[in-house]
Amino acid sequence: MTTEVEEHRFPCDTCGSDLRYSPGTSLLHCDHCGSEEKITNRGVWKKLSIRELDFRKAVKDQLPEQDMEELRTVSCVNCGAHVEFEPNIHSTECPFCATPLVTDTGTDRQIKPKGLLPFELAEKDARKRMTDWLGRLWFAPNGLQDYARKGRKMQGIYVPYWTYDADTKSSYTGQRGTIYYETRRVAVNVNGRRQMQNRQVQRIRWTHTSGRVARFFDDVLVLGSKSLPKKYTDALAPWDLSALEPYRPEYLAGFRAESYTVQLDEGYKEARDYMNRMIVRDVKFDIGGDRQKIGSLDTEIGTLTFKHVLLPVWLAAYKYRGKTYRFVVNGRTGTVQGERPYSAWKIAFTVGLGLLAAAAIGFLIAQGNAGNVSFTNY
Ligand SMILES: [Zn+2]
Ligand SMILES: [Zn+2]
Repeated sequence: MTTEVEEHRFPCDTCGSDLRYSPGTSLLHCDHCGSEEKITNRGVWKKLSIRELDFRKAVKDQLPEQDMEELRTVSCVNCGAHVEFEPNIHSTECPFCATPLVTDTGTDRQIKPKGLLPFELAEKDARKRMTDWLGRLWFAPNGLQDYARKGRKMQGIYVPYWTYDADTKSSYTGQRGTIYYETRRVAVNVNGRRQMQNRQVQRIRWTHTSGRVARFFDDVLVLGSKSLPKKYTDALAPWDLSALEPYRPEYLAGFRAESYTVQLDEGYKEARDYMNRMIVRDVKFDIGGDRQKIGSLDTEIGTLTFKHVLLPVWLAAYKYRGKTYRFVVNGRTGTVQGERPYSAWKIAFTVGLGLLAAAAIGFLIAQGNAGNVSFTNY
């Protein structure tokens, strides 16, 4: 059952240096001599080659051997990231948390990626987005801003994701609530005297109901790793998944790929939670009325398929005064997310300024009042 560990190197025809994928193009570029090579067939077989895989077979480890691969990875003891080992990239730090990487490399048997979104944004553009964003963070410590500006290059990482497709049919029982108003005689006190008055009271009439809803879920996206905080990667959305390219190792040349650490069935749980929320919404809509109660809900899942895809993220991890700061940039859209660092001193200064301003305004108001008083007295 062992597969050969594949190592993807793309040496330059002219000088033998390693080529790297040039973002936003379909070219491999040689930084050493400037040669370029075209990645052939970009997008041509798109529809045919981005094939969905059968979820139920995959969780029983029954996928055909051609859909599996053996990867050499370097792992991080701090954040748990498994990064593909690249013989030509001698990285000493984990790209996700800036912790020294353990040299111990093992192999992971993994489901092959089916598709990816190639990098669109070059490193210098991504870094500009990040420094602009940091610049706008008025509360960031000056030291960190300088450090990030002068800092090393950002690293281009293909981050692992799962996408799930599911055909669902649900039957439900529940109650539909209709609001109506009732006039009631109530006793009230008017000037210490008891009086009877008419009051409108809101009531809900519940009627039993049942029905069926169906929904096809297409590409429910779930992050396949835990090395980056989910809130950052979630905030990088949306991803233009309709532009997925069939997986080709050429797109990874000069970049790194993280291998998934969230397993297929674990990711599915998250996808299923999302699907459930959508189905509940559908059911409530189907029940109609003013209020809805769901008694029972039974969902049958027909076809259930998935894909493993890689999405491009520019990443910078900085250790500044013993703390790790991370910034991520969507490699397609340039959306930035990151640790929001605060400078206690800057905040204290602002609060101080605010108090001073308030005191000054108070003083002016007091003066104004005093002036008015003296004027009328005059
Ligand atoms: Zn060359
Ligand atoms: Zn790490």
